[in-house]
Amino acid sequence: MNDATKAWLKSVYKEYYFRGADQVDFPDRVESREFGYFPFGGGMVRHLSFKSKGEALAEILKQSPSSVYCSNARYEYPARPIEEKGWLGAELIFDIDATDIPTPCKKGHDLWYCEKCHASGKLPRPPKCTKCGGPAVEFHGKCEACLDAAKDHAMRVVRFLVDDFGVDRNVIRLYFSGNRGYHLHVFDGRFDLLDPQARGEIAEYVRGSGLPPNQTLASSLRRRPPSGPQGAGWTRRITGYVGTRRQDYGGTLQRLVSEAISSQRALVDSSVTTDIHRVFRLSGTLHGDTGMVKKRIESVESFDPQEDPVVLSDKPVKVRVEFYPKFRMKHKDFGPYPKPETIELPTYAAVSILTRGLGEVV
Ligand SMILES: [Zn+2]
Ligand SMILES: [Zn+2]
Repeated sequence: MNDATKAWLKSVYKEYYFRGADQVDFPDRVESREFGYFPFGGGMVRHLSFKSKGEALAEILKQSPSSVYCSNARYEYPARPIEEKGWLGAELIFDIDATDIPTPCKKGHDLWYCEKCHASGKLPRPPKCTKCGGPAVEFHGKCEACLDAAKDHAMRVVRFLVDDFGVDRNVIRLYFSGNRGYHLHVFDGRFDLLDPQARGEIAEYVRGSGLPPNQTLASSLRRRPPSGPQGAGWTRRITGYVGTRRQDYGGTLQRLVSEAISSQRALVDSSVTTDIHRVFRLSGTLHGDTGMVKKRIESVESFDPQEDPVVLSDKPVKVRVEFYPKFRMKHKDFGPYPKPETIELPTYAAVSILTRGLGEVV
């Protein structure tokens, strides 16, 4: 990324923060949170703390960075190194990314490309470019199908929390990450002091890890066929699913059990839930790879991840694109750009190419 592109991106982000300061959605007790950011083209700056939202906003506007982060943890001394911060608790968090959910659409939009000759091909990525031997890197795209799958898995987490953990739906905040996924923050004091191991158990539970093998479950259901939901937790989920579908189901009981699990488990990233010192993208700030905003979602049904988080302008800008696959924003198709070319794009679309280092402003 050259200096002109860095400066242009920074000016675009600054304009958003200038207009959209009231969109930045801070958690409570700002003074106890650790903040961090990535400047365009630079390394991460962490261990920052601010006395108030106003002070944090002033710094965000001044830096207009590529990404802004805030801890889910609260600390006595948020600006000190991790071991001296004095951890006071952290909200329970779940991260769902479309990349981690197996969907057939990936074949169409995930690929590798060569940084040198711009050759590209289907994943898995070869160790080196098959054409010129240059460096081959992975590119993960997205589409309606995998964004819908991610949304579905996020709603599954909500159901686990409400039905199996007795969490009040109103204390669960759901956010679109600004790229390919969803974050869930649980503002329920019962979870705040849990250590990483206990958080990991919750994550594994919603993932459906550690259940007995499908064969074992099927044979116990065969002995006592359920007619509806029985027991609690996963038992209730599996007996409920099997009980209502068993009569008309054409396949084996084992297959039905496998369906019961795969249709209800939520493929959260456990490593995110267990990390109690992590910083997360701050809601209302722009994603460093897409220029889309991390957005709190009030109504899941009507939220449109292709449209609603696109907040940058459609002012046209000329860019030299090195390489970029086909993509879709605001329900418009762009690309593909298999070879270097100079084109004019709306700002919001140009940003998603430039932030990935695959083009420059001209
Ligand atoms: Zn090559
Ligand atoms: Zn997809």
